[in-house]
Amino acid sequence: MDGPGLYIHIPFCRTKCGYCAFDSQPWPGEGPEDYLQALLQELQQAAAGWGQGRRFASLFVGGGTPTIYRGPALAELLVNCRERFAWVENPEITLECNPNTVTADDLSRCRAAGANRLSLGVQSFSDRLLKRLGRSHTATQARQAVIKARQAGFANLNLDLIYGLPGQTSTDWRQSLQAALALEPEHLALYELSVEPGTPFHAQRTAGKLVLPEDDRVAEMAELANELLFAHGYRRYEISNYARPGFACRHNLNYWENGPYLGLGAGAVSSFDGLRLKNLPPPDQYQARITAGLPAFLEGEALSLEASFRETVILGLRMLAGVNLAALHERYGLDPLAYYGPALPRLKAQGLVDYDHLRLWLTARALPVANQVLSLLV
Ligand code: SF4
Repeated sequence: MDGPGLYIHIPFCRTKCGYCAFDSQPWPGEGPEDYLQALLQELQQAAAGWGQGRRFASLFVGGGTPTIYRGPALAELLVNCRERFAWVENPEITLECNPNTVTADDLSRCRAAGANRLSLGVQSFSDRLLKRLGRSHTATQARQAVIKARQAGFANLNLDLIYGLPGQTSTDWRQSLQAALALEPEHLALYELSVEPGTPFHAQRTAGKLVLPEDDRVAEMAELANELLFAHGYRRYEISNYARPGFACRHNLNYWENGPYLGLGAGAVSSFDGLRLKNLPPPDQYQARITAGLPAFLEGEALSLEASFRETVILGLRMLAGVNLAALHERYGLDPLAYYGPALPRLKAQGLVDYDHLRLWLTARALPVANQVLSLLV
Protein backbone atom coordinates (compact mmCIF):
# COMPACT_ATOMS: atom_id res chain seq x y z
CA MET A 1 0.00 0.00 0.00
CA ASP A 2 1.00 3.57 -0.56
CA GLY A 3 0.31 4.65 3.03
CA PRO A 4 -1.47 3.72 6.25
CA GLY A 5 -5.24 3.58 6.59
CA LEU A 6 -7.49 5.55 8.91
CA TYR A 7 -10.64 3.93 10.25
CA ILE A 8 -13.40 5.78 12.13
CA HIS A 9 -16.08 3.85 13.97
CA ILE A 10 -19.65 5.07 14.45
CA PRO A 11 -21.15 2.56 16.89
CA PHE A 12 -24.87 3.29 16.46
CA CYS A 13 -27.60 1.63 14.40
CA ARG A 14 -31.35 2.11 14.13
CA THR A 15 -31.95 -1.39 15.47
CA LYS A 16 -29.74 -4.35 16.21
CA CYS A 17 -29.82 -7.02 13.50
CA GLY A 18 -30.35 -10.60 14.64
CA TYR A 19 -26.93 -11.80 13.48
CA CYS A 20 -24.86 -8.77 14.43
CA ALA A 21 -21.71 -9.28 16.47
CA PHE A 22 -20.20 -5.88 15.67
CA ASP A 23 -19.60 -3.09 18.15
CA SER A 24 -22.88 -1.33 17.61
CA GLN A 25 -25.85 -0.38 19.69
CA PRO A 26 -29.29 1.09 19.06
CA TRP A 27 -29.27 4.81 18.38
CA PRO A 28 -29.80 6.39 21.79
CA GLY A 29 -31.86 9.29 20.45
CA GLU A 30 -29.86 11.79 22.46
CA GLY A 31 -26.23 12.15 23.35
CA PRO A 32 -24.64 11.08 20.07
CA GLU A 33 -23.51 14.65 19.38
CA ASP A 34 -21.22 14.22 22.40
CA TYR A 35 -19.85 11.12 20.72
CA LEU A 36 -18.83 13.13 17.67
CA GLN A 37 -17.18 15.70 19.92
CA ALA A 38 -15.13 12.95 21.59
CA LEU A 39 -14.24 11.58 18.17
CA LEU A 40 -12.98 14.98 17.04
CA GLN A 41 -10.88 15.20 20.19
CA GLU A 42 -9.37 11.76 19.58
CA LEU A 43 -8.76 12.73 15.97
CA GLN A 44 -6.82 15.77 17.10
CA GLN A 45 -4.73 13.69 19.53
CA ALA A 46 -4.01 11.04 16.91
CA ALA A 47 -3.05 13.62 14.28
CA ALA A 48 -0.53 15.11 16.71
CA GLY A 49 0.65 11.62 17.76
CA TRP A 50 1.30 8.60 15.53
CA GLY A 51 -0.43 10.30 12.60
CA GLN A 52 2.03 13.16 12.52
CA GLY A 53 4.25 13.22 9.43
CA ARG A 54 2.45 10.27 7.83
CA ARG A 55 0.51 10.39 4.59
CA PHE A 56 -2.62 8.27 4.79
CA ALA A 57 -3.86 6.40 1.73
CA SER A 58 -7.41 5.60 2.79
CA LEU A 59 -10.16 6.60 5.16
CA PHE A 60 -13.02 4.26 6.01
CA VAL A 61 -15.91 5.56 8.11
CA GLY A 62 -17.69 2.40 9.22
CA GLY A 63 -19.97 1.08 11.89
CA GLY A 64 -22.54 0.61 13.05
CA THR A 65 -24.25 2.97 10.68
CA PRO A 66 -22.33 6.20 10.05
CA THR A 67 -25.20 7.66 8.01
CA ILE A 68 -27.40 7.54 11.10
CA TYR A 69 -26.05 11.06 11.57
CA ARG A 70 -28.21 13.38 9.51
CA GLY A 71 -27.36 16.85 8.27
CA PRO A 72 -23.82 18.18 7.90
CA ALA A 73 -22.26 16.17 10.80
CA LEU A 74 -20.64 13.45 8.68
CA ALA A 75 -19.38 15.82 6.02
CA GLU A 76 -17.82 17.94 8.77
CA LEU A 77 -16.17 14.84 10.20
CA LEU A 78 -14.70 14.05 6.77
CA VAL A 79 -13.43 17.60 6.36
CA ASN A 80 -11.84 17.41 9.80
CA CYS A 81 -10.05 14.19 8.87
CA ARG A 82 -8.83 15.65 5.60
CA GLU A 83 -7.53 18.78 7.29
CA ARG A 84 -5.90 17.24 10.33
CA PHE A 85 -4.05 14.39 8.59
CA ALA A 86 -1.80 14.41 5.54
CA TRP A 87 -2.96 12.32 2.55
CA VAL A 88 -1.54 10.75 -0.56
CA GLU A 89 -2.87 12.04 -3.85
CA ASN A 90 -6.40 10.70 -4.45
CA PRO A 91 -6.92 8.80 -1.22
CA GLU A 92 -9.79 6.33 -1.11
CA ILE A 93 -12.52 7.67 1.22
CA THR A 94 -15.30 5.22 1.98
CA LEU A 95 -18.51 5.84 3.84
CA GLU A 96 -20.48 2.85 5.05
CA CYS A 97 -24.24 3.22 5.13
CA ASN A 98 -27.54 1.46 5.43
CA PRO A 99 -30.11 1.98 2.69
CA ASN A 100 -32.78 3.63 4.81
CA THR A 101 -30.46 6.17 6.39
CA VAL A 102 -29.19 7.95 3.31
CA THR A 103 -30.61 11.18 1.97
CA ALA A 104 -29.68 12.82 -1.33
CA ASP A 105 -28.56 16.00 0.47
CA ASP A 106 -26.33 14.20 2.98
CA LEU A 107 -24.73 12.11 0.25
CA SER A 108 -24.02 15.21 -1.83
CA ARG A 109 -22.48 16.93 1.19
CA CYS A 110 -20.25 13.90 1.91
CA ARG A 111 -19.25 13.65 -1.73
CA ALA A 112 -18.31 17.34 -1.72
CA ALA A 113 -16.33 16.74 1.50
CA GLY A 114 -14.19 14.15 -0.33
CA ALA A 115 -15.97 10.79 0.09
CA ASN A 116 -15.45 8.89 -3.16
CA ARG A 117 -16.65 5.39 -2.28
CA LEU A 118 -19.91 4.24 -0.71
CA SER A 119 -20.44 0.85 0.88
CA LEU A 120 -24.09 -0.09 1.24
CA GLY A 121 -25.24 -2.81 3.63
CA VAL A 122 -27.92 -4.32 1.40
CA GLN A 123 -27.58 -7.97 2.55
CA SER A 124 -30.53 -9.25 0.50
CA PHE A 125 -33.04 -8.10 -2.10
CA SER A 126 -35.76 -10.25 -0.53
CA ASP A 127 -37.97 -8.33 1.90
CA ARG A 128 -38.90 -11.62 3.56
CA LEU A 129 -35.24 -12.40 4.30
CA LEU A 130 -34.42 -8.82 5.31
CA LYS A 131 -37.19 -9.07 7.89
CA ARG A 132 -35.85 -12.41 9.10
CA LEU A 133 -32.41 -10.82 9.52
CA GLY A 134 -33.91 -7.98 11.55
CA ARG A 135 -32.82 -5.38 9.01
CA SER A 136 -34.61 -2.05 9.21
CA HIS A 137 -34.83 -1.43 5.44
CA THR A 138 -36.45 -2.91 2.34
CA ALA A 139 -35.10 -3.98 -1.04
CA THR A 140 -36.75 -0.95 -2.64
CA GLN A 141 -34.89 1.34 -0.25
CA ALA A 142 -31.65 -0.35 -1.27
CA ARG A 143 -32.36 0.36 -4.95
CA GLN A 144 -33.27 3.95 -4.13
CA ALA A 145 -30.07 4.39 -2.13
CA VAL A 146 -28.00 3.31 -5.14
CA ILE A 147 -29.83 5.81 -7.36
CA LYS A 148 -29.23 8.59 -4.79
CA ALA A 149 -25.56 7.65 -4.53
CA ARG A 150 -25.10 7.81 -8.31
CA GLN A 151 -26.92 11.14 -8.44
CA ALA A 152 -24.64 12.48 -5.73
CA GLY A 153 -21.65 11.57 -7.92
CA PHE A 154 -20.38 8.35 -6.34
CA ALA A 155 -18.62 6.37 -9.08
CA ASN A 156 -17.40 3.63 -6.74
CA LEU A 157 -20.11 1.64 -4.97
CA ASN A 158 -19.91 -1.53 -2.94
CA LEU A 159 -22.92 -3.64 -2.03
CA ASP A 160 -22.74 -6.14 0.84
CA LEU A 161 -24.83 -9.31 0.50
CA ILE A 162 -25.15 -12.34 2.80
CA TYR A 163 -25.93 -15.94 1.88
CA GLY A 164 -26.67 -19.07 3.88
CA LEU A 165 -29.59 -17.29 5.58
CA PRO A 166 -32.39 -19.03 7.47
CA GLY A 167 -35.10 -19.86 4.97
CA GLN A 168 -32.98 -18.83 1.97
CA THR A 169 -33.15 -20.96 -1.16
CA SER A 170 -30.75 -20.99 -4.10
CA THR A 171 -33.44 -19.21 -6.09
CA ASP A 172 -33.61 -16.44 -3.47
CA TRP A 173 -29.85 -16.07 -3.63
CA ARG A 174 -29.78 -16.00 -7.43
CA GLN A 175 -32.46 -13.31 -7.42
CA SER A 176 -30.51 -11.19 -4.92
CA LEU A 177 -27.34 -11.52 -6.98
CA GLN A 178 -29.17 -10.60 -10.17
CA ALA A 179 -30.83 -7.63 -8.48
CA ALA A 180 -27.41 -6.46 -7.25
CA LEU A 181 -25.82 -6.92 -10.68
CA ALA A 182 -28.63 -4.95 -12.31
CA LEU A 183 -27.49 -1.96 -10.24
CA GLU A 184 -23.96 -2.28 -11.68
CA PRO A 185 -21.91 -1.74 -8.51
CA GLU A 186 -18.14 -1.55 -8.93
CA HIS A 187 -17.63 -3.88 -5.98
CA LEU A 188 -19.52 -6.67 -4.21
CA ALA A 189 -18.79 -8.21 -0.83
CA LEU A 190 -20.51 -11.57 -0.33
CA TYR A 191 -20.47 -13.04 3.16
CA GLU A 192 -21.64 -16.41 4.35
CA LEU A 193 -23.80 -16.00 7.44
CA SER A 194 -21.85 -16.69 10.58
CA VAL A 195 -23.78 -17.29 13.79
CA GLU A 196 -21.72 -15.66 16.53
CA PRO A 197 -22.05 -16.21 20.27
CA GLY A 198 -24.02 -13.51 22.05
CA THR A 199 -26.28 -12.71 19.09
CA PRO A 200 -30.06 -13.33 18.94
CA PHE A 201 -29.42 -15.79 16.09
CA HIS A 202 -27.13 -17.78 18.37
CA ALA A 203 -29.84 -17.97 21.03
CA GLN A 204 -32.38 -19.02 18.39
CA ARG A 205 -30.08 -21.74 17.11
CA THR A 206 -29.53 -23.03 20.64
CA ALA A 207 -33.31 -23.12 21.08
CA GLY A 208 -33.71 -24.97 17.77
CA LYS A 209 -35.48 -22.00 16.17
CA LEU A 210 -32.91 -21.14 13.53
CA VAL A 211 -32.91 -23.49 10.59
CA LEU A 212 -30.07 -22.79 8.20
CA PRO A 213 -29.56 -24.22 4.71
CA GLU A 214 -27.47 -27.40 4.63
CA ASP A 215 -23.73 -27.04 4.02
CA ASP A 216 -24.01 -28.41 0.47
CA ARG A 217 -26.67 -25.82 -0.40
CA VAL A 218 -24.49 -23.05 1.04
CA ALA A 219 -21.51 -24.27 -0.99
CA GLU A 220 -23.72 -24.20 -4.10
CA MET A 221 -24.68 -20.61 -3.32
CA ALA A 222 -21.02 -19.62 -3.09
CA GLU A 223 -20.30 -21.35 -6.39
CA LEU A 224 -23.28 -19.73 -8.06
CA ALA A 225 -22.07 -16.29 -6.96
CA ASN A 226 -18.60 -17.01 -8.25
CA GLU A 227 -19.86 -18.04 -11.69
CA LEU A 228 -22.38 -15.25 -12.03
CA LEU A 229 -20.01 -12.49 -10.97
CA PHE A 230 -17.21 -13.79 -13.15
CA ALA A 231 -19.57 -13.79 -16.13
CA HIS A 232 -20.38 -10.14 -15.36
CA GLY A 233 -16.75 -9.01 -15.38
CA TYR A 234 -16.02 -9.06 -11.64
CA ARG A 235 -12.83 -10.58 -10.33
CA ARG A 236 -12.62 -12.26 -6.97
CA TYR A 237 -9.62 -10.79 -5.19
CA GLU A 238 -10.32 -11.90 -1.63
CA ILE A 239 -12.32 -14.76 -0.14
CA SER A 240 -15.49 -12.63 0.13
CA ASN A 241 -14.73 -9.70 -2.18
CA TYR A 242 -15.24 -9.13 -5.90
CA ALA A 243 -14.46 -6.03 -7.91
CA ARG A 244 -14.47 -4.67 -11.41
CA PRO A 245 -10.87 -4.10 -12.58
CA GLY A 246 -9.34 -1.16 -10.70
CA PHE A 247 -11.96 -1.13 -7.93
CA ALA A 248 -10.50 -3.42 -5.26
CA CYS A 249 -10.92 -1.74 -1.88
CA ARG A 250 -7.59 -0.12 -1.03
CA HIS A 251 -8.44 0.25 2.64
CA ASN A 252 -9.13 -3.46 3.02
CA LEU A 253 -6.13 -4.46 0.91
CA ASN A 254 -3.93 -2.63 3.40
CA TYR A 255 -5.60 -4.59 6.20
CA TRP A 256 -5.04 -7.94 4.45
CA GLU A 257 -1.45 -6.98 3.78
CA ASN A 258 -1.20 -6.38 7.53
CA GLY A 259 -0.23 -2.80 6.83
CA PRO A 260 -0.44 -0.07 9.47
CA TYR A 261 -3.76 1.56 10.31
CA LEU A 262 -5.15 3.88 12.90
CA GLY A 263 -8.62 3.21 14.32
CA LEU A 264 -10.56 5.97 16.06
CA GLY A 265 -13.86 5.77 17.91
CA ALA A 266 -15.47 3.37 20.36
CA GLY A 267 -14.23 -0.20 19.85
CA ALA A 268 -11.90 0.77 17.00
CA VAL A 269 -8.64 -1.15 16.60
CA SER A 270 -5.27 0.33 15.63
CA SER A 271 -2.30 -1.63 14.38
CA PHE A 272 1.15 -0.13 13.85
CA ASP A 273 4.76 -0.55 14.90
CA GLY A 274 4.08 -4.10 16.16
CA LEU A 275 1.31 -2.88 18.48
CA ARG A 276 -2.40 -3.74 18.55
CA LEU A 277 -4.65 -1.32 20.45
CA LYS A 278 -8.41 -1.61 20.91
CA ASN A 279 -10.46 1.32 22.13
CA LEU A 280 -13.09 0.71 24.78
CA PRO A 281 -16.27 -0.40 22.95
CA PRO A 282 -19.06 1.17 25.06
CA PRO A 283 -19.48 4.71 23.67
CA ASP A 284 -20.01 6.26 27.13
CA GLN A 285 -16.79 4.74 28.50
CA TYR A 286 -14.93 5.74 25.35
CA GLN A 287 -16.21 9.31 25.66
CA ALA A 288 -15.32 9.48 29.37
CA ARG A 289 -11.72 8.45 28.65
CA ILE A 290 -11.31 10.90 25.80
CA THR A 291 -12.84 13.88 27.61
CA ALA A 292 -10.58 13.12 30.60
CA GLY A 293 -7.62 13.43 28.22
CA LEU A 294 -6.81 9.71 28.49
CA PRO A 295 -6.14 7.25 25.65
CA ALA A 296 -9.32 5.44 24.59
CA PHE A 297 -7.70 2.02 25.03
CA LEU A 298 -6.88 0.40 28.34
CA GLU A 299 -3.95 -1.70 27.30
CA GLY A 300 -2.16 -2.61 24.12
CA GLU A 301 -0.77 -5.87 22.83
CA ALA A 302 2.78 -5.99 21.53
CA LEU A 303 3.13 -8.59 18.80
CA SER A 304 6.34 -10.57 18.56
CA LEU A 305 8.01 -10.65 15.17
CA GLU A 306 6.90 -14.25 14.66
CA ALA A 307 3.30 -13.54 15.68
CA SER A 308 3.21 -10.63 13.25
CA PHE A 309 4.75 -12.83 10.53
CA ARG A 310 2.10 -15.54 11.00
CA GLU A 311 -0.64 -12.92 10.97
CA THR A 312 0.72 -11.46 7.73
CA VAL A 313 0.74 -14.92 6.13
CA ILE A 314 -2.79 -15.72 7.25
CA LEU A 315 -4.27 -12.37 6.29
CA GLY A 316 -2.36 -12.42 3.00
CA LEU A 317 -3.70 -15.85 2.10
CA ARG A 318 -7.21 -14.37 2.19
CA MET A 319 -6.30 -12.56 -1.04
CA LEU A 320 -6.44 -14.67 -4.16
CA ALA A 321 -3.05 -13.35 -5.23
CA GLY A 322 -1.68 -14.81 -2.00
CA VAL A 323 1.44 -13.59 -0.23
CA ASN A 324 4.56 -12.29 -1.87
CA LEU A 325 7.48 -14.31 -0.53
CA ALA A 326 10.17 -11.70 -1.23
CA ALA A 327 8.16 -8.96 0.53
CA LEU A 328 7.60 -11.28 3.47
CA HIS A 329 11.30 -12.05 3.68
CA GLU A 330 12.24 -8.42 3.46
CA ARG A 331 9.81 -7.53 6.27
CA TYR A 332 10.52 -10.43 8.65
CA GLY A 333 13.62 -12.24 7.43
CA LEU A 334 11.48 -15.40 7.39
CA ASP A 335 10.32 -17.79 4.69
CA PRO A 336 6.95 -19.53 5.23
CA LEU A 337 8.14 -22.74 3.58
CA ALA A 338 10.97 -23.06 6.07
CA TYR A 339 8.96 -21.66 8.98
CA TYR A 340 5.95 -23.99 8.74
CA GLY A 341 8.04 -27.12 8.11
CA PRO A 342 6.00 -30.00 6.64
CA ALA A 343 2.64 -28.21 7.01
CA LEU A 344 2.72 -26.42 3.65
CA PRO A 345 3.91 -29.42 1.56
CA ARG A 346 1.14 -31.44 3.25
CA LEU A 347 -1.49 -28.82 2.36
CA LYS A 348 -0.08 -28.69 -1.15
CA ALA A 349 -0.38 -32.47 -1.49
CA GLN A 350 -4.03 -32.13 -0.42
CA GLY A 351 -4.54 -29.51 -3.15
CA LEU A 352 -5.31 -26.73 -0.65
CA VAL A 353 -2.33 -24.41 -1.06
CA ASP A 354 0.14 -23.86 -3.84
CA TYR A 355 3.41 -22.00 -4.14
CA ASP A 356 6.26 -21.18 -6.46
CA HIS A 357 9.42 -19.19 -5.87
CA LEU A 358 7.44 -15.91 -5.87
CA ARG A 359 4.17 -16.49 -4.04
CA LEU A 360 2.15 -18.70 -1.72
CA TRP A 361 -1.63 -18.89 -2.24
CA LEU A 362 -4.79 -20.81 -1.42
CA THR A 363 -6.15 -22.93 -4.26
CA ALA A 364 -9.71 -22.65 -5.55
CA ARG A 365 -10.45 -25.90 -3.72
CA ALA A 366 -9.40 -24.35 -0.41
CA LEU A 367 -11.55 -21.21 -0.70
CA PRO A 368 -14.81 -22.79 0.57
CA VAL A 369 -12.95 -24.13 3.61
CA ALA A 370 -10.46 -21.27 3.92
CA ASN A 371 -10.98 -20.71 7.64
CA GLN A 372 -10.15 -24.32 8.47
CA VAL A 373 -7.05 -24.23 6.27
CA LEU A 374 -5.84 -20.93 7.70
CA SER A 375 -6.40 -22.12 11.26
CA LEU A 376 -3.62 -24.68 10.64
CA LEU A 377 -1.15 -21.84 10.09
CA VAL A 378 -2.02 -19.64 13.11
S1 SF4 B 1 -26.66 -2.56 10.54
FE1 SF4 B 1 -24.70 -3.71 10.65
S2 SF4 B 1 -23.68 -2.96 12.48
FE2 SF4 B 1 -25.83 -2.29 12.60
S3 SF4 B 1 -26.85 -3.86 13.80
FE3 SF4 B 1 -27.10 -4.42 11.66
S4 SF4 B 1 -25.35 -5.77 11.19
FE4 SF4 B 1 -24.89 -4.70 13.11
